Amino acid sequence: MTTRTSVAIYARISQDREGAGLGIERQLADCRAEAERMGWTVAEEYVDDDISAYSGKRRPAYERMLEDLQEGIRDAIIVWHIDRLHRRPIELEEFARTCARAGVADLRTVHGEFDLGTGDGMLMARVLAAVAANESDSKRRRGRRKMQEIAEAGRPHGGGTRPFGFQSDRITHDAQEAQIIRTLAERALAGESLTSLGRWLTEEGVTTVTGKEWRTPVIRQLLLNPRIYGVRVHRGQALGPAVWEPIISPERGEALQLLLTNPERRTNRTARRYLLSGMCRCQLCGSVMYSVPRYEERRYLCRSGHDFGGCGRMAISAAPLEQIVSEAVLQRLDSPLLHDALAGRIHDDGLATELGKQIAADTSQLEELTDLYTNRAITPPEWMRARDAIEARRNAARRRLSGLTGTRNLDAYIGNGADLRRQWGELNLDRQRNIVQALVDHVEIMPGTRGTRAVAIERVNPIWRL
Ligand SMILES: [Zn+2]
Repeated sequence: MTTRTSVAIYARISQDREGAGLGIERQLADCRAEAERMGWTVAEEYVDDDISAYSGKRRPAYERMLEDLQEGIRDAIIVWHIDRLHRRPIELEEFARTCARAGVADLRTVHGEFDLGTGDGMLMARVLAAVAANESDSKRRRGRRKMQEIAEAGRPHGGGTRPFGFQSDRITHDAQEAQIIRTLAERALAGESLTSLGRWLTEEGVTTVTGKEWRTPVIRQLLLNPRIYGVRVHRGQALGPAVWEPIISPERGEALQLLLTNPERRTNRTARRYLLSGMCRCQLCGSVMYSVPRYEERRYLCRSGHDFGGCGRMAISAAPLEQIVSEAVLQRLDSPLLHDALAGRIHDDGLATELGKQIAADTSQLEELTDLYTNRAITPPEWMRARDAIEARRNAARRRLSGLTGTRNLDAYIGNGADLRRQWGELNLDRQRNIVQALVDHVEIMPGTRGTRAVAIERVNPIWRL
């Protein structure tokens, strides 16, 4: 055992262990005991306190220790655990270089020993530093690697709900469900739509594994999952044959892939956006109405049945409705009502200034608090309590502020309704939608008195935001 006469002890308190940090005293006591056990003489204890640590924050004591090492006035280092010494692997490299230049090869931890002079010690320290720097990350990676191994062997992994068609071992077929999958595959390949398959499942009283009604995207997912034709998929990638028997033949599985991923087929499922998409609500049932092309004209419909759930008793022609709402919006831009609303917003601008001040004040108070804590004027529980309260207040102010600023994009149009009316037809759909949405929360559609889908102005009730 080499005698060391000018040993450095390094301790750091941080939040990453045992909540408020592993006590400095405990770290120091353990390190002193280690020095005594080794027969080493401690020259200085370097203590950093970065409970509010974020990467890049300076550690004055650590830097002082590095300087002392460089000057050659320290001959060994004791630290409680390698994760006290460095937060990032790159810091370890720098530290190792400094030690090498100064000829210091003794680094001891209470939990083990590193000899920085040998390759193995360095490797070990590197590994530990990397683990300490990103423990949760590496845990996730380890978990992922394990999953990958299982997947490559074609075996299923547990967790989550069992797949439809299989028993909970994820290998044995559920005879009834497997038969349903075969039927669905046959009917889909014969050209039946997924919506129609969904209706059939509902009529048959077949639910998903979690007892839910089959929606078309879920049916699509089921039929596109290579699992049903005996292929193990991991993270979206087909890895090879699975250990379970296929429910349908691989040929049929491939045919389904081709059929269901055909881009032409998808167009009828992709919702096209129109001026009032998602904004019209059926006054009878409150459901969002869908814009649907039907016969010669497009309409907004309250849709009932599979995938929708409205009452199905409301329809209105789209083009005249969109015209009415656009006109109402343009008039609103020039109306005294809007100016009143804006006067309210100017009052809000005063509020915005107040909130801005509040946020700045809370931020500096948080900094002061950290200083108090660093200088040990307050205890960790006191610090945390005060910090939580201030942070909660600051977050609330931030939320209110972002809510207030939501209407700013209207500024250019206010009072310019007449000009805007001339350009309206040339604005692209997104611009038009932005303007409508800035003013209108949603449009309530009332039942018609003359025929269900005829548009009369009294059927249209815009609910204004401003
Ligand atoms: Zn309805």
